[in-house]
Amino acid sequence: MNLNKHLTNPIFKIIAEVAESSKLETYVVGGFVRDILLKRKKNKTDIDFVCVGSGIDLAKQVSKKLEKKIDVKYFNNFGTAMIHYNKEDYEFVGARKESYRSNSRKPIVENGTIQDDQNRRDFTINAMAISLNSSNYGKLIDPFAGISDLETKTIKTPLSPDITYSDDPLRMMRAIRFSSELNFEIENESYSSICKNAERLSIISQERITEELNKILLSEKPSIGLKLLFNTKLLHQFFPEMVELQGVEERGKFAHKDNFYHTLEVIDNIRKNTDNIWLIWSALLHDIAKPQCKRFEEGHGWTFHGHEFLGGKMVPRIFKTLKLPLNEKMKYVKKLVTLHLRPIVLSQDIVTDSAIRRLLFDAGDDIDDLMTLCEADITSKNPKKVARYIKNFKLVRKKLKEIEEKDHIRNWKPPISGEEIMEIFNIEAGREVGILKNSLKDAILDGKVKNEKEASIEFMKLKAKEINLKSND
Ligand code: ATP
Ligand code: MG
Repeated sequence: MNLNKHLTNPIFKIIAEVAESSKLETYVVGGFVRDILLKRKKNKTDIDFVCVGSGIDLAKQVSKKLEKKIDVKYFNNFGTAMIHYNKEDYEFVGARKESYRSNSRKPIVENGTIQDDQNRRDFTINAMAISLNSSNYGKLIDPFAGISDLETKTIKTPLSPDITYSDDPLRMMRAIRFSSELNFEIENESYSSICKNAERLSIISQERITEELNKILLSEKPSIGLKLLFNTKLLHQFFPEMVELQGVEERGKFAHKDNFYHTLEVIDNIRKNTDNIWLIWSALLHDIAKPQCKRFEEGHGWTFHGHEFLGGKMVPRIFKTLKLPLNEKMKYVKKLVTLHLRPIVLSQDIVTDSAIRRLLFDAGDDIDDLMTLCEADITSKNPKKVARYIKNFKLVRKKLKEIEEKDHIRNWKPPISGEEIMEIFNIEAGREVGILKNSLKDAILDGKVKNEKEASIEFMKLKAKEINLKSND
């Protein structure tokens, strides 16, 4: 098969010329080849090249031929070089032959042929190469019949799965990631081998595991990958809190829903409406504290009181363990988890403006994402209930919009800051400042005090008297 016509990017010609003049046998390999054959469109491509010789030399020579001066980045310990050019990443490696020791991911590397290099790749569909050599430019080199595995939608390792996975246990995560992204089946022998080798994931750094997990979460139907992670017990190796969600307990006629499968549904639902990985993480974590908050109330059934608050509190620790960023992204997830029941309350009771203002204040600019989360959280199998919940949330959205247009609460700050409070009452930062600040915020949101400086100061002076503080004037 010749794939010449797919090599439209001018970089291929440049690389072919360099390969020819320096007599370096060169190929395009991996995901780029696979995605051509799958006709898969991606918004960003990274292309991998392999040559029989030094990948670094090839990269240096290629960069000299480009119109602009481009820096070549080296990852010398792996003999890899990377060029970032016209918004694309091109990676160059020398063909390698690898063998591994049992206790380390660090392979013993030797130079090898293109065939050696294809042997050490993770899956047959990722081991295909296209020649950039003048004798057969464009020819598909597919030693493991990757093309037929593409047709049958199969994830399969080129060599024995036990060797492939135990050499580099990250490949188990990758098998599931590709299965989820491409909606492919993992071949039986491979699947058993993953189950058998799951514990070896412990030698892989959490950063790399999480990178694959995030790719699973961004696939079109993340539940495919998450179910596989659970069933193979890979999930148990790095995310026990999520495993804990699974299971149903029954007492008499009372049973609660399985929170693991519910969470997967919520994730699939939200994925249809967002590309925002942190919103997807909020869906993943929204019920994470349910196992700890589970109680049985006689004659009433199962309850999970407070799971939203405890869940919010669990977010920083989970982010830290999974090596997710501990910045405003984490705060955002924490906020959405903590607030995820609030719109439900607003839809049930006779709602006061003040309750709506409070939610707008607490959610700020993330209010739309919070509503998206709540809508994804509807997983009832009863169509009448679903219709009612959707209608209720529409109403909540409408009320939120009306109040926001009227009162502009989203990014609202009380007219008096903490510093000003300290000055007026001549006090140090501490408990009293908090009390005054909160009572002012509440009073304004409840509509008891006007949203302006003078009225606020008057109110606070009264409040200060109540807690025995003197003002500075
Ligand atoms: P993506 O579309 O996510 O970029 P990809 O197949 O290009 O998919 P990369 O992680 O970019 O995946 O890796 C490029 C290629 O390198 C793969 O196609 C595969 O041939 C090889 N590869 C990557 N990681 C491994 C690994 N852990 N073990 C063996 N081969 C690997
Ligand atoms: Mg790639």
